[in-house]
Amino acid sequence: MKANELDGYRKSLLDEKERLSAALEYLHTENPGVEEEDALELASLEEHLAEVGSVTLDREIDYSLEEVAQEGLSAIAGALERIEHGSFGRCESCGGPIAAERLAALPWASLCIDCKRHEEGS
Ligand SMILES: [Zn+2]
Repeated sequence: MKANELDGYRKSLLDEKERLSAALEYLHTENPGVEEEDALELASLEEHLAEVGSVTLDREIDYSLEEVAQEGLSAIAGALERIEHGSFGRCESCGGPIAAERLAALPWASLCIDCKRHEEGS
Protein backbone atom coordinates (compact mmCIF):
# COMPACT_ATOMS: atom_id res chain seq x y z
CA MET A 1 0.00 0.00 0.00
CA LYS A 2 1.27 3.48 -0.88
CA ALA A 3 2.40 5.81 1.89
CA ASN A 4 -0.14 8.48 0.94
CA GLU A 5 -2.95 5.90 1.11
CA LEU A 6 -1.78 4.86 4.54
CA ASP A 7 -1.71 8.49 5.61
CA GLY A 8 -5.31 8.86 4.51
CA TYR A 9 -6.38 5.84 6.55
CA ARG A 10 -4.36 7.02 9.52
CA LYS A 11 -6.12 10.36 9.34
CA SER A 12 -9.61 8.80 9.23
CA LEU A 13 -8.69 6.53 12.13
CA LEU A 14 -7.48 9.46 14.21
CA ASP A 15 -10.63 11.45 13.39
CA GLU A 16 -12.76 8.50 14.39
CA LYS A 17 -10.77 8.02 17.55
CA GLU A 18 -11.41 11.64 18.46
CA ARG A 19 -15.10 11.24 17.75
CA LEU A 20 -15.38 8.13 19.93
CA SER A 21 -13.38 9.71 22.75
CA ALA A 22 -15.72 12.70 22.68
CA ALA A 23 -18.70 10.33 22.67
CA LEU A 24 -17.37 8.47 25.69
CA GLU A 25 -16.83 11.73 27.50
CA TYR A 26 -20.37 12.69 26.60
CA LEU A 27 -21.71 9.37 27.90
CA HIS A 28 -19.85 9.90 31.14
CA THR A 29 -21.58 13.19 31.71
CA GLU A 30 -24.68 12.44 33.68
CA ASN A 31 -27.54 14.51 32.36
CA PRO A 32 -30.72 14.39 34.46
CA GLY A 33 -32.93 15.42 31.56
CA VAL A 34 -31.87 14.45 28.07
CA GLU A 35 -32.61 17.27 25.69
CA GLU A 36 -34.15 16.40 22.37
CA GLU A 37 -31.00 17.45 20.60
CA ASP A 38 -28.93 15.16 22.80
CA ALA A 39 -31.27 12.28 22.12
CA LEU A 40 -30.83 12.83 18.41
CA GLU A 41 -27.10 13.01 18.87
CA LEU A 42 -27.18 9.73 20.78
CA ALA A 43 -29.31 8.06 18.14
CA SER A 44 -26.91 9.05 15.39
CA LEU A 45 -23.98 7.97 17.53
CA GLU A 46 -25.60 4.60 18.10
CA GLU A 47 -26.19 4.20 14.39
CA HIS A 48 -22.65 5.21 13.67
CA LEU A 49 -21.19 2.84 16.25
CA ALA A 50 -23.23 0.01 14.81
CA GLU A 51 -21.02 0.34 11.74
CA VAL A 52 -17.86 -0.28 13.71
CA GLY A 53 -16.33 -3.42 12.24
CA SER A 54 -16.06 -5.91 15.05
CA VAL A 55 -19.13 -4.72 16.90
CA THR A 56 -22.62 -6.07 16.68
CA LEU A 57 -25.07 -3.76 18.28
CA ASP A 58 -27.77 -5.86 19.84
CA ARG A 59 -30.61 -3.85 21.27
CA GLU A 60 -32.17 -6.87 22.91
CA ILE A 61 -29.26 -7.44 25.23
CA ASP A 62 -28.99 -3.69 25.67
CA TYR A 63 -25.38 -3.52 24.65
CA SER A 64 -24.34 -0.23 26.14
CA LEU A 65 -23.12 2.58 23.95
CA GLU A 66 -20.16 2.90 26.23
CA GLU A 67 -19.07 -0.68 25.56
CA VAL A 68 -19.56 -0.12 21.84
CA ALA A 69 -17.47 3.03 21.96
CA GLN A 70 -14.76 1.26 23.98
CA GLU A 71 -14.66 -1.60 21.52
CA GLY A 72 -14.51 0.88 18.65
CA LEU A 73 -11.55 2.63 20.25
CA SER A 74 -9.67 -0.62 20.72
CA ALA A 75 -10.39 -1.60 17.10
CA ILE A 76 -8.99 1.78 16.01
CA ALA A 77 -5.93 1.38 18.25
CA GLY A 78 -5.33 -2.03 16.65
CA ALA A 79 -5.58 -0.55 13.16
CA LEU A 80 -3.15 2.26 14.02
CA GLU A 81 -0.76 -0.36 15.32
CA ARG A 82 -1.08 -2.33 12.08
CA ILE A 83 -0.20 0.86 10.17
CA GLU A 84 2.96 1.19 12.28
CA HIS A 85 3.88 -2.45 11.73
CA GLY A 86 3.16 -2.37 8.04
CA SER A 87 0.44 -5.00 8.20
CA PHE A 88 -2.46 -2.62 7.65
CA GLY A 89 -4.91 -3.73 4.97
CA ARG A 90 -4.10 -7.40 5.48
CA CYS A 91 -6.72 -9.79 6.84
CA GLU A 92 -5.78 -11.05 10.30
CA SER A 93 -7.41 -14.38 9.62
CA CYS A 94 -6.37 -15.45 6.10
CA GLY A 95 -3.56 -12.94 5.46
CA GLY A 96 -5.16 -11.81 2.22
CA PRO A 97 -5.73 -8.19 1.26
CA ILE A 98 -8.78 -6.36 2.59
CA ALA A 99 -10.67 -4.69 -0.27
CA ALA A 100 -10.04 -0.94 -0.62
CA GLU A 101 -13.79 -0.19 -0.58
CA ARG A 102 -14.07 -2.03 2.72
CA LEU A 103 -11.15 -0.10 4.22
CA ALA A 104 -12.59 3.16 2.95
CA ALA A 105 -15.82 2.46 4.82
CA LEU A 106 -14.27 0.71 7.83
CA PRO A 107 -10.58 1.66 8.14
CA TRP A 108 -10.39 -0.31 11.40
CA ALA A 109 -11.51 -3.55 9.75
CA SER A 110 -9.10 -6.38 10.63
CA LEU A 111 -10.76 -9.08 8.54
CA CYS A 112 -11.49 -9.31 4.83
CA ILE A 113 -15.15 -9.50 3.90
CA ASP A 114 -15.02 -13.29 3.37
CA CYS A 115 -13.54 -13.97 6.80
CA LYS A 116 -15.91 -11.47 8.38
CA ARG A 117 -18.91 -13.22 6.80
CA HIS A 118 -17.54 -16.55 7.90
CA GLU A 119 -17.08 -15.29 11.44
CA GLU A 120 -20.62 -13.92 11.56
CA GLY A 121 -22.04 -17.07 10.07
CA SER A 122 -20.50 -19.39 12.63
ZN1 LIG B 1 -9.60 -13.11 5.33
